[in-house]
Amino acid sequence: MRQNIVAGNWKMNNDLAQTETLITALKEQQHTSNAEVMIAPPFTNLWNAFEALRQSDIEVIAQNMHFAENGAYTGEISAGMLKSIGIQTVILGHSERRAYFNEEDAILAKKVDAALANDMRIIFCFGEELADRKSGNEEAVVERQIRKALFHLESIAFKNIVLAYEPVWAIGTGETASPEQAQDMHQFIRKTLSNKYGNGVGDNMSILYGGSVKPSNAKEIFSKPDVDGGLIGGAALNAEDFYAIVNAF
Ligand code: PGA
Repeated sequence: MRQNIVAGNWKMNNDLAQTETLITALKEQQHTSNAEVMIAPPFTNLWNAFEALRQSDIEVIAQNMHFAENGAYTGEISAGMLKSIGIQTVILGHSERRAYFNEEDAILAKKVDAALANDMRIIFCFGEELADRKSGNEEAVVERQIRKALFHLESIAFKNIVLAYEPVWAIGTGETASPEQAQDMHQFIRKTLSNKYGNGVGDNMSILYGGSVKPSNAKEIFSKPDVDGGLIGGAALNAEDFYAIVNAF
């Protein structure tokens, strides 16, 4: 059966000292739910975080990577580099990467292939913008994002993929999709996978919701049958808030 997951996306927050402080606080929290816990610090703190959390049940994951194995790509980090320090999972396709760094579907498809070729697990993000929802196109947009980056894969590849539905209008805005809106879209996503690959792939896929999840709304969102966890931005920067969400199942 599919796994519940709560992943904290730190984005471009926390220098080395702040990372150590937050990790110390995270280790003091009680983990009372069945959710897998992950945190994604910036690249500069991955190794420290990995070392500090070696004996814990928190997995340290990366926020991004390049598709090439190595070479003349100034400023970039490869899957092999991440693997070499113990990182097994990478977030790909976050809306901020798409919007500010021109990561389009074709680039994301290459990143997906590179991660899978390196036996990495992927949290693949996608979601519509406000204009798409206002014009009733949210399902078409989400279907296209999934199809263009993932539908060239064999069904076996999906065991290493987690999906994260993050409506752009709900990220960092304080505005959350209603639990019903999240459920409707997650059900649509699962159906889209099942139509293409069969029920096994759809049923076993963990589909996370992201966009202003906080302690006060996590329980209701996670109670929906097709919501298997969350990708948490702002609230992941505070240990108590993050664990209130982790334990909201
Ligand atoms: P937020 O970010 O929780 O701050 O809205 C979510 C995300 O971008 O993953």
